[in-house]
Amino acid sequence: MSASKYIAGDKEAISSFIDKFDTFLFDCDGVLWSGDHLFENVAETLTMLRNKGKKLVFVTNNSTKSRADYAKKFTSFDIPVTAEEVFGSSYSAAIYISRILNLPAEKSTVFLVSESGTETEFTAESIKFIGGSDPSYRRPIDPPIDLPKIQSGELLDPTVGAVVLALDFNINYLKMALATAYVQRGAVLLATNSDPTLPYAGGLFPGAGSVGAGVLKATRKEPVVLGKPSQAMMDAIEGKFKLDRGRTCMVGDRLDTDVRFGNEGGLGGTLAVLTGVTERHEIEEAEGTMRPSVFVDKLGDLLIAE
Ligand code: PLP
Ligand code: CA
Repeated sequence: MSASKYIAGDKEAISSFIDKFDTFLFDCDGVLWSGDHLFENVAETLTMLRNKGKKLVFVTNNSTKSRADYAKKFTSFDIPVTAEEVFGSSYSAAIYISRILNLPAEKSTVFLVSESGTETEFTAESIKFIGGSDPSYRRPIDPPIDLPKIQSGELLDPTVGAVVLALDFNINYLKMALATAYVQRGAVLLATNSDPTLPYAGGLFPGAGSVGAGVLKATRKEPVVLGKPSQAMMDAIEGKFKLDRGRTCMVGDRLDTDVRFGNEGGLGGTLAVLTGVTERHEIEEAEGTMRPSVFVDKLGDLLIAE
């Protein structure tokens, strides 16, 4: 693979790059916005792409929000995007469970380590779950009483056949002990995403991968990850949006999730931006599937092709 090309300011290079694709998959945080701050010319750039007939899909690893939550966020920025155009990691986990995993009926409950956004997507797919935002799982553990009850099964639901690790801002020892016990008893271990960090307020805080790491260490298991760069997510997006991979471009700020996701999925191209977690020298030094085809400073640089 040749070196990534910096194309900001080069109208011809940007126009011919855009012309290669029918579909653009967009990472959200770090590409479109940072938290509640929408980057310059993002709305105009998305409109320009739609006017050229491009299909747009918004692919986020943020497990804490449902697709409907994201549609609301776009609306708050006056950008017309529907929930159907959003593909989040909690939705990805939900459809993997309901359409691929096929848990037997007697083992069809999922133990969630998550916030309520994950529950919304699981409910929409008619998946039974426990844990999640239920306050009874958010109490302090009493080791002399609770641990023997977990070990004996008294505190376990015998119908749990899978554990899903998502970002849980209220992770606690009780949930970790229950998740570990279910996996030790044969539950399938899944993760919405494995991002080590979560960019917020200019800093990097523990992401879903860090919050779930205790359960991985305790069980000595690796989860099936359903967020970027997992190809299970790409396959599901391909099915839902009828992608022609060769005419699809992934746009992202992270080389190890977004760019890898696109390149390992055999997409026609990958575009990196510098408004998120990646610095220019990292793109210039990137190798293999972490190297984007082209890069610009910010998404709004594409507007020159209008
Ligand atoms: N996980 C959480 C909880 C987040 O808040 C974010 C960004 O807002 C992410 C993951 C990364 O999201 P994205 O894939 O859109 O960059
Ligand atoms: Ca991002």
